[in-house]
Amino acid sequence: LEIHMVPMTMSGDEEQGLLLVLQDVSAIRRLERMRSEFVANVSHELKTPVAAVKGFSETLLSGAMNDPETARSFLTIIHEESERLNRLIGDILELSKIESRRSPLQFSPIDLAGFFGRMSELLTPEAAKKNIELDVYLEEGLFLEADEDRLGQIVMNLMQNGINYTPEGGKVKVRAEIVETADGEEEAVRITVSDTGIGIPKKDIPRIFERFYRVDKARSRSSGGTGLGLSIVKHLTELHHGTLRVESTVGVGSQFILELPLLQP
Ligand code: ADP
Repeated sequence: LEIHMVPMTMSGDEEQGLLLVLQDVSAIRRLERMRSEFVANVSHELKTPVAAVKGFSETLLSGAMNDPETARSFLTIIHEESERLNRLIGDILELSKIESRRSPLQFSPIDLAGFFGRMSELLTPEAAKKNIELDVYLEEGLFLEADEDRLGQIVMNLMQNGINYTPEGGKVKVRAEIVETADGEEEAVRITVSDTGIGIPKKDIPRIFERFYRVDKARSRSSGGTGLGLSIVKHLTELHHGTLRVESTVGVGSQFILELPLLQP
């Protein structure tokens, strides 16, 4: 609580009293704390790949280069770690852009059949590598008012997670259908992305939308995750006036249920 005192004068110049202003600054302090925690997390996340690039390139320079097999394997690591850095920086910039509202959404009508066609085309090679079946089924003639690039980020992240957290030979299903919004008034599109993957423990579900929160750090790392995908998804869903729910059973699979209004208010 911050207290400010302001002397009050009425007509005539005599001092009449004091105005006491009590301001609750806990929200401001909380924001400041979140910001500095975020900066600390970002620095930590960036340090790991930079350390790997530095270490492996130094080892190469001090002689490992002479053995072609070692050289190849170290260069592969350096390459992967720089890709990770790239993704991290991209996601951090994206989050900061969304949070500062610097780039407003551009809504336009989107034909979901074409949209999901492009999404599955982009992800088919990745799914094929793990022998995962991608199964997309849409109601016919679905249109939705949205920011197409942002909607792409939402759906891409959810489908990519489905692939990342599903063992070989599993299945990732996408469904899109018309529903009524929770208040029963307007129509919405419900997009469900479900997988037959490792699932999410109940206690972790409320936290997976936090920045850099991962149930299993090593697993997220080996699948190339940045830990920022779902916080970006959550923000973008809110900017579309939509909702996102998660249902999951460990060892069985997860389901992310996205509802977006057909028309933006
Ligand atoms: P990441 O880059 O680590 O995938 P996200 O923000 O996309 O970061 O997700 C946060 C965490 O939520 C993941 O690290 C993972 O533990 C969990 N998670 C997300 N999607 C799934 C899923 N489909 N199945 C199981 N766990 C998931």
